[in-house]
Amino acid sequence: MSLLPITLCGDKILRKKTSLVTDIDDKTIGIIADMFETMRNANGVGLAANQIGLNKQIFVVDVSPVEGYEKYKPIAMINPKIISKSDDTNSVEEGCLSIPELRAEVIRPKSVFVSFFDVDMKEHTIEAEELFARVIQHEYDHLQGILFIDYFDDDMKKRYKKHLEKIRKRKLDIDYPISSSTDYYLIK
Ligand code: ZN
Repeated sequence: MSLLPITLCGDKILRKKTSLVTDIDDKTIGIIADMFETMRNANGVGLAANQIGLNKQIFVVDVSPVEGYEKYKPIAMINPKIISKSDDTNSVEEGCLSIPELRAEVIRPKSVFVSFFDVDMKEHTIEAEELFARVIQHEYDHLQGILFIDYFDDDMKKRYKKHLEKIRKRKLDIDYPISSSTDYYLIK
């Protein structure tokens, strides 16, 4: 296993809609293992494939380090689809490994039904709630080219403009490996 560089806000791949996975080969399974390692090394609870430069509909989630979520198993979701969302919403602070040192509240549905394929390409449908649902929605957004800063109002966009500029120019000290350029692709 190895650590992969994480793409940053401003990198082109983060704004592209990712492609469907048609088959899972050993290389993809290896990349998924690397994604878990890369996420944990950066103290993240979720990581999408385009965050490591792979334009594929895959993300990994592990909320078990968070208090109250110890029983949740790490999970990789392939070709995920959010089937339904609860009308109930909540506002919780989020962060993103591609947008270091920025945390802000985002309103999202409290629970979702999501279907996905596992690494054996078996389909599952589950209901996710609270933090687990939030991380799934955040990562699912990544696969559509959406970042959590897109939910900011104009005031917040103004407030964080300089910080985002710093990230784009790689002027922050980030303690995990990051992509070397805004054109970073693991596999074209
Ligand atoms: Zn993110």
